[in-house]
Amino acid sequence: MRILILGGTTEGTALAQRLMAMPGLEIRLSLAGRTKQPAALPLEFRKGGFGGVKGLIEYLQTEAIDAVIDATHPFAAQISHHAARASEITGMPRLLLVRSPWEKLAGDRWTVVRDCAQAAAALDPDDRIFLTIGRQEVEAFAHLEKLWFLMRMIDPPEGLVPPGEVLLDRGPFNLNNEINLLKHYKITVMVSKNSGGEATYAKILAARELGIPVVMIDRPEMPHSENIVGDVDGAIHWIKQYSGQFGELVGCSIS
Ligand code: NAP
Repeated sequence: MRILILGGTTEGTALAQRLMAMPGLEIRLSLAGRTKQPAALPLEFRKGGFGGVKGLIEYLQTEAIDAVIDATHPFAAQISHHAARASEITGMPRLLLVRSPWEKLAGDRWTVVRDCAQAAAALDPDDRIFLTIGRQEVEAFAHLEKLWFLMRMIDPPEGLVPPGEVLLDRGPFNLNNEINLLKHYKITVMVSKNSGGEATYAKILAARELGIPVVMIDRPEMPHSENIVGDVDGAIHWIKQYSGQFGELVGCSIS
């Protein structure tokens, strides 16, 4: 049984690693190619877009894929919609693996906004902003020429950027360092996507501890999915069930 994992997340990589160890499964991992040097991966992977829904269907058929697990980033909505449509058209089983969003807790000073444009509109001229949204949408803040931004991302930005400093770094991050960073740069407000997960949560904890407001960009809408899980264990369970129905199980029992 051959499974395509749409990855680019910690969960996608961890899932690939777990599934590779299960007999009878062949794994294909696909990344968008947004980072020049992806974190260490347990297997060969393909990189780059498929060419829309049509291209994805062609790939699924050429590679004789039996099921798709969409483990992409919660903000990578387009590929998720494409995977949903491709699965609808071909009847191919699809699982959506998406981590839970962060919840606002006591002490958090969040303003929740719909997208980067709204986040930009929520900032004040006196702010010193920690912009932690990755590099792809930084341009949405480039017109704010009177504000100052500390922009953290893995690779350098390609388009226009607002005034400030670019900090190239990759998670996971820890609380002490995040607190020191916010203090060092005299940050007065943070802009973040509600990505969820542990690897970058320390910045949210640090903002809470220092009483710094956070402009929190809400997640885009995901496609309707009959099969949806929040973690790697859930995905493994689904695969075991599905591969059981598939006929020749792969020598592992459902736990
Ligand atoms: P997207 O808007 O969902 O995808 C845009 C196009 O990239 C897709 O239509 C597809 O091209 C290709 N693509 C995306 N993921 C792919 C995958 N796993 N394998 C093959 N092709 C893939 O996603 P995005 O532009 O990459 O990212 C949108 C936002 O998600 C970013 O601003 C960031 O906040 C967040 N994000 C994404 C990733 C990631 O790995 N994609 C990682 C971290 C954060 P075709 O239509 O040609 O198939």
